[in-house]
Formats: sequence, C-alpha cells, structure tokens
Amino acid sequence: MSGSGAGAVLNTDDPLRGAFDSYTFRYWMRNWSGTRLGWKPMRSFGWGSSPPSSAMKKRKDWDSYFMDIATKVAERATCDRKHVGAVIVRDKTILSTGYNGSVRGLAHCDDIGHLMESTHCVRTVHAEANAVAQAAKNGVAIGGSVLYVTASPCWNCFKLVANAGVIRIVYKEFYRDSRVMEFAEEAGIQMVCIDEKNGR
Ligand SMILES: [Zn+2]
Ligand SMILES: [Zn+2]
Repeated sequence: MSGSGAGAVLNTDDPLRGAFDSYTFRYWMRNWSGTRLGWKPMRSFGWGSSPPSSAMKKRKDWDSYFMDIATKVAERATCDRKHVGAVIVRDKTILSTGYNGSVRGLAHCDDIGHLMESTHCVRTVHAEANAVAQAAKNGVAIGGSVLYVTASPCWNCFKLVANAGVIRIVYKEFYRDSRVMEFAEEAGIQMVCIDEKNGR
C-alpha cells in the first residue's frame, strides 16, 4: 500500500475515491461507476489550466507568415545583384508566386553574367511582374489581392500590380523608388513595411 513513485506523497497507489499527488501534479480518479481511470494530469479536469508549452509561444501573424514565404521564394532568383521574392495572396490563400529571373527559355545572369543598362541589370523579369505573369498564364484572378514582396516595388512593377488589382503591398525593405509611396496613397493602395529588425 505504500507509495511506489518517487515523490508520491500519498501512501496508496489505488485510493478509493481519488487522490492528489502534489509531486507529479496528478489526480488519481475513478469514474462514477467506480471503474479505475488511473492518474490523470490536472488539466484534464480543467484545473490549473496550464496549456502545453508550445501553445504559449506567440503565434506568427499572417503578414509575417506570407513574408517568410516570399523570402523563401526569393532564394530561386537568378540575378545575384538582388534576390527578390513575391507572393500574391487573397483570403489567406496564395494565388501566385514570383522571383526575379530571366525571360522563359533565356539564359540566367548566374550563368552568363548580367545585362547592364546604366547601373541596373535588365536581364530579369522582376519578382512582382513574374507573380502577375504566373497568375495570367494560369488564369488566376488577382483583383483585390495583397502582394507580399521582399523589396518595395520599382516604378514599373508598381504600375503593373496596381492595374492588376493589387490593393495592399507588404514589403520588407525599401528599394530605390519613393515615387511608389506617394502614388500608392493617391491610388488608394495601402503600403505596409515589415521591418525585420524591429519585428514589424
Ligand atoms: Zn543580373
Ligand atoms: Zn520591379
């Protein structure tokens, strides 16, 4: 009849009605008909209500979730002057993705070098433009969507995504063209910067 478990404070393993083990924080239970239910953790009775440790972590918000995916998409980029990834989303569903890469069927910067025009490489189609093109190629409507892009759109890409129906642009780093910010406001497109270093 003596307690067998280390630290068991009760001197029985099979109490008639129930018992509490303060060391392991469990209750010994029988159900209403007397059937032994054995040791149950406290939270199975709704007492103490300590959630599993994984549930105590702060859950990732949607903007961070899709930006993380865009960041992953950027790894496929083929011009190492800048790797950019884009994800087009509506109703928490990914409609299209894109990264900066060469025209379909043509050689990549990574293989034959950049195609420079003044200070920019113009060989690639930009990530946002590729995401729009992928949607068009597959007949996916992107009106009313959100664009997640790792770098803010250049002027040409901004014009394209605005007319493709994007209503919100979430970006991680500012890239080159501040006209976009001004015109976005005028066009009623929300620009949101997620600053990695500051969490948002
Ligand atoms: Zn290049
Ligand atoms: Zn662009």
